[in-house]
Amino acid sequence: MKLHKAIVVLALMIMAIPLNAQLSINIRYTGPKGAAKKYVKEMEQSGIAARIRAVEGCIRYDYFFPADDPDGLLLIDEWADQAALDRYHASPMMKEAAALREKYKLGGRQIRMFNPLVRNPQNDNKQQTMNNALTPRRQGLAVMAALEAKGDQTGLEKAAVEALDNGLTVSEAKEALSQLYAYTGFPRSLNALGTLQKVLSARQAAGIKDNPGQDADPLPADYDALKQGTAVQTQLTGKPFDYGFVPATDYYLKAHLFGDIFARNNLSFADREIVTVSAISALPGCEPQLIAHVSGARNMGVSDAELRALPSLLEEKVGLAEAERLRGALKAVLGDAHTPVQTVDFSVWPMGQPNTAYAQYFTGNSYLAPMDGGLANVTFEPGCRNNWHIHHKQVQVLICVAGRGWYQEWGKPAVPLVPGTIIEIPEGAKHWHGAAADSWMQHLTYHKDVQADASNEWLEPVSDEQYHRVK
Ligand code: MN
Repeated sequence: MKLHKAIVVLALMIMAIPLNAQLSINIRYTGPKGAAKKYVKEMEQSGIAARIRAVEGCIRYDYFFPADDPDGLLLIDEWADQAALDRYHASPMMKEAAALREKYKLGGRQIRMFNPLVRNPQNDNKQQTMNNALTPRRQGLAVMAALEAKGDQTGLEKAAVEALDNGLTVSEAKEALSQLYAYTGFPRSLNALGTLQKVLSARQAAGIKDNPGQDADPLPADYDALKQGTAVQTQLTGKPFDYGFVPATDYYLKAHLFGDIFARNNLSFADREIVTVSAISALPGCEPQLIAHVSGARNMGVSDAELRALPSLLEEKVGLAEAERLRGALKAVLGDAHTPVQTVDFSVWPMGQPNTAYAQYFTGNSYLAPMDGGLANVTFEPGCRNNWHIHHKQVQVLICVAGRGWYQEWGKPAVPLVPGTIIEIPEGAKHWHGAAADSWMQHLTYHKDVQADASNEWLEPVSDEQYHRVK
């Protein structure tokens, strides 16, 4: 495989980099004919690449065209440390670059290197101490777990490919998805294992040799599941645990989950807790269990830095709602500052692309997804709103479909926008619309009764004072 050759060459190149906390990320993209070159051109000309290079701690952000693939692209970016990478991940450029890749239909495979030691799971602890961040292998486990719990087979397929490329063994991947039946149920677990099987077959057919890894060792003849499980559960929760309300459930938790399953030594306890925390992040309504497992993960040797690296990973690879749920749990356990925001599910109405054409008339970031039938789908980040404006000689209709926001006409109280709210904006009325300060918001919009000389007049921004007065 050409790609594999390239990975080996990259790995050898990176071996020469001295040990430090620096992160080097190499992403190989490919797309339709000519798309990769157009993408790079737009990244450079739009200034997105320059703004990424200006992020504090960015060492390089450079594109190269591989000799062996005329439609391929190699991105090498390097960051001073995890915090620098997190700054980039939290910036609007992250989403702008993703939207451009979507525009040019570029797919990618990532090889992330913290230092030359990380391809081997045996080095996890060493690497954790040196860099305080998740290994590529643990990132793979976390993302696959959350997508399993979410039931997102398309995402899981991509994540499995990436995780296997990053050195996760087949045995580890199977074990993580299998363990999760205890948290997400057999339906989700079996679906995910089916997806993994499909991915492995396709890779085998393509000549990719995945590392089978090691099976769990057989248990000793005198193994006592209840005794072992009780000890593991005590280690996890920090105190003896007794679910006396339902003794049968108490037995299942101890003897089966923390006994039979955790006794399998093809994943460490820390790996298993990263898997569990990530999966529960994708289960709405299970916040108390999520908090308990963030705490449990620490008792099993997962570092705080690793836990703090999880939300941005989940936001990038799984979804905003999952990342926000985990941020809430980290706040509860670690006391991290976090202002929760209400998210929206972009699998229903897509986020679309950065609304650059109208950005000058907006405060904050908005996204636009054109639709058939003369409709547009506009997504507003928390706090984002458009300037005061007037639609002359036409009536604008807003249909809120997700999140919470506001519509306000000049001199009148603001009207809350929630899914199902429909607003007809009278011709000539000065107004604004946008998200609530603590929620994303999506509305569909179209214009009706449009006269020949219809126009939009953009006016002054809605000041912070005007916006925060709204209730
Ligand atoms: Mn309007």
